[in-house]
Amino acid sequence: MAADYHVHGLGHDGPAHTVERLWPYVEVARARGLTEIGFAEHEWYLEGLDFSVFPRLEEKTKLKVRAGLEVDFRPGRDFKELEGKPWDYLIGSVHEVHGWAFDKPGEEEGFGNWDIDELYRLYFGLAAQAAATGIFQVIGHLDLIKLYGHRPRRPAVELAEPALQLMARLGIVLEVNTSGLYRPVREIYPSRDILERAFQLNIPVIITSDAHVPEEVGRARETARQILYQIGYRQLATFHKGHMGTEPL
Ligand SMILES: [Zn+2]
Ligand SMILES: [Zn+2]
Repeated sequence: MAADYHVHGLGHDGPAHTVERLWPYVEVARARGLTEIGFAEHEWYLEGLDFSVFPRLEEKTKLKVRAGLEVDFRPGRDFKELEGKPWDYLIGSVHEVHGWAFDKPGEEEGFGNWDIDELYRLYFGLAAQAAATGIFQVIGHLDLIKLYGHRPRRPAVELAEPALQLMARLGIVLEVNTSGLYRPVREIYPSRDILERAFQLNIPVIITSDAHVPEEVGRARETARQILYQIGYRQLATFHKGHMGTEPL
């Protein structure tokens, strides 16, 4: 068993889901030994999702195909448009601090406007607020704010502590997202010290690729698996219809 639950079958190219469009992702997943793939499109493409595609993909393959979504958390927003849909899971992600979409191409210079400790503190605070909504089974790429390599003076794990405490209390899954290895920071999200603290707190984890093209499905999974194994993890979380299960790491 091995699942990749953070796959953007539509990339950044827009709607809509069809069997033909998603099939190459399933093929790569199968070739890399995954047994489960979860599509978690950016919520901007909500209108283009077709839930009937997932069972049709399952019929063509032995893989389980799950329906997720990557939701942009912003304070004060509501989640009404997500209701009443057959999600297997929802990923809550912070991509914005005070309206600044820091991970968008061309936004790197904006880091110069901030005290980096304050930026991290705000970022993790937003992640904690996302967890507190109770909407999300997963918090995505918990320390994405490091993507260009800006580091706080205080250890990031200390700044993340309130968010981690809340996730532990609410049973929310921490995403171990390998896409950071391909950004300037060249590190998995989140960092090893945060993962070690998450293990102490019994926070469940998943390994994801954040693939935006088929070849990225399952990328660097073994690297993430080894880190988690060294830390002590022996299980990964799985999702079906909003319920969490486990699979061996
Ligand atoms: Zn994201
Ligand atoms: Zn993503």
